[in-house]
Amino acid sequence: MKVPLLDLKAQYATIRDEIRKVVDELFESQYFILGPQVEGLEARIAAYCSTRHAVGVSSGSDALLIALMAAGIGPGDSVITTPYTFFATAGSIARTGATPVFVDIDPDTFNISPVQVKQRIENMRAGERETLKALMPVHLYGQCADMQPLTEIAERYRLLVVEDAAQAIGSECGGRRAGCMGDFGCFSFFPSKNLGAFGDGGVVTTDSDSWWERLKIMRVHGSQPKYYHRFIGGNFRLDALQAAVVAVKLKYLDDWTAARQKNADTYRRLFAEAGLASVQLPEEKQNRHIYNQFVIRAPGQRDELRQYLQKNGVGSEVYYPVPLHLQDCFSYLQYREGDFPVAEQAARQTLALPIYPELTEDQQTYVVEKIREFYDRHVPGRR
Ligand SMILES: *Cc1c(COP(=O)(O)O)cnc(C)c1O
Repeated sequence: MKVPLLDLKAQYATIRDEIRKVVDELFESQYFILGPQVEGLEARIAAYCSTRHAVGVSSGSDALLIALMAAGIGPGDSVITTPYTFFATAGSIARTGATPVFVDIDPDTFNISPVQVKQRIENMRAGERETLKALMPVHLYGQCADMQPLTEIAERYRLLVVEDAAQAIGSECGGRRAGCMGDFGCFSFFPSKNLGAFGDGGVVTTDSDSWWERLKIMRVHGSQPKYYHRFIGGNFRLDALQAAVVAVKLKYLDDWTAARQKNADTYRRLFAEAGLASVQLPEEKQNRHIYNQFVIRAPGQRDELRQYLQKNGVGSEVYYPVPLHLQDCFSYLQYREGDFPVAEQAARQTLALPIYPELTEDQQTYVVEKIREFYDRHVPGRR
């Protein structure tokens, strides 16, 4: 049996006619840059995320970058974030010229630890605290970071909050949607995200009228009015074509999310039935987890397990093998191995299993069976 990590063709088959119709209309209109498709999608995304505004942009990475640029963050500033995330999180901070300041994660959710954020700020040298301008929590794998204590910290120290919600559209924390809890919410339409375009795309949400205006100006090279530049922005536009595709898919997002959640429940039952007690399953601490990824902690020999699954036709992935504080490009920040032990251990132990909406129970049964087989054969006594 083949069980890919993600099967976008299975999803496309269910919406092909609708997508072809809107794409064909767009081709006939030859209206490719911003315009009604992008504005229509922005209104729908804002409503979905319960924010007042949304601004379509060229990618999730650019969503983070443009939010920081709009907020005027740059050289001499610093931003607290997690070392256990996709590169773009800290990459966007560094690209503005600001300094990423890493803080370790919670071992159960893999999200930044509010307790450690508070400690880190309290222990800052005089002078360092003044450089600190923002917090950038990541809602990793589709589960919100613990936003209540984080927003309290942000208020106390007057920090902006930029949510990296690239993996978390529609997830919630205390009844509030990802993207509406910070000053900016940054989302990605990369094809493997829960709401994926047919290429690159992203969106920034905000409740503030003035940030909204600034984001729209930044998106077109800081031009306002046309050909007059008070700020240096960039070409951060979302294609009308991608907006049209994403708008069709948004109608199905809640159904797809429900299917991912059902698959997560099925895995929980199958793992329990297989007696695989030492494989740690993801903990749901926030309601609602949208399961962009279903990430287990393998008790030992994670890489061998991954190879075994691959040999047996099961796709899996390590998100992420090297925490950001140990990446070569950040060596100038002078972190060392051992600085963030929880993130480092996660990088050694985690493995993402297939969780996409169209996955069948037979496929899930096969995945769990192969994991049980691996531990029976290769790690006697470990399950
Ligand atoms: C995917 C992702 C991004 C970047 O989004 P792109 O659209 O690929 O640029 C940023 N942060 C996180 C956590 C992501 O998962």
